[in-house]
Amino acid sequence: MASFRETGVLSREELAGRLPPGERLRRGACAVIECVEEIPCNPCEEACPFGAITIGEDITAPPTLDFERCRGCGTCLAVCPGLAIFLLDLSRGAAEVTLPHELLPVPEPGDEVELLSRAGEVLGRGRVVETRRARTTWLITVELPAEGLLGEVRAVRRSP
Ligand code: SF4
Ligand code: SF4
Repeated sequence: MASFRETGVLSREELAGRLPPGERLRRGACAVIECVEEIPCNPCEEACPFGAITIGEDITAPPTLDFERCRGCGTCLAVCPGLAIFLLDLSRGAAEVTLPHELLPVPEPGDEVELLSRAGEVLGRGRVVETRRARTTWLITVELPAEGLLGEVRAVRRSP
């Protein structure tokens, strides 16, 4: 399968091991870090108050996440310049994803939005349950129509 470097979209192989298991998500929100490029970047590691993200001494190493240390606080989403970190959650009776969002207009709670894949394809429609301003970005939490979309939805767009 083609790599992120070739397509700009993470392949299944590149995502392997990055998605928190359902059992973990039923206990509370957890981050997924979709950053695979070897770039000199580490604000996510420095920002995590719980030491859940590790890059280490080689600043070009891709980050790894300890699912059990992550508390789902969202701090790392707001500092990632690549908008490559998301929160997944199955603990509130629905499948929810929280996304960094930097397009206007910003959706509001209750809005119905289009759910977009990593490649920008429309996957369905969801409902915004929460929005919060975090530094220079917005964090948008969306309820998904199916648990299977947790690993697929990575952006939203206000419905026309
Ligand atoms: S969501 Fe919070 S606890 Fe989890 S990795 Fe990010 S900063 Fe750390
Ligand atoms: S801040 Fe974002 S782009 Fe930088 S290493 Fe962390 S996940 Fe990757």
